[in-house]
Amino acid sequence: MDKYLQALKEKICSICVDSDEKGNCKMTNDECCAIEVFIDKIVNVVLSIESENINDYVNALHQKICIECRGQAEHCKLREDVNCSLDRYFPLIVEIIRETSKSVA
Ligand code: SF4
Ligand code: SF4
Repeated sequence: MDKYLQALKEKICSICVDSDEKGNCKMTNDECCAIEVFIDKIVNVVLSIESENINDYVNALHQKICIECRGQAEHCKLREDVNCSLDRYFPLIVEIIRETSKSVA
């Protein structure tokens, strides 16, 4: 699982709006990154789906992870404000997890 988190952080932190110019996370101790918090679930959800349609992954994200995070799939203020790293970079996250799974298989 470390390999997945490492691959995600390498490729996403550097482009994340919550990082500095060197790719270091600027979040405070009061905030948390949903990618880090839900890494195990994210990997399991992504690898449980075989589809070329990103909507299948997005639906699973909402049903299996957002439910646990905010208690509901549909409404999330952070998502609506583009403030959730997991939601913001989800298509890229799916791609990175699928690529990483091939290299660890
Ligand atoms: S919020 Fe998450 S993805 Fe963004 S810089 Fe921080 S750790 Fe990386
Ligand atoms: S979109 Fe909202 S509910 Fe879903 S993981 Fe992000 S913060 Fe949690």
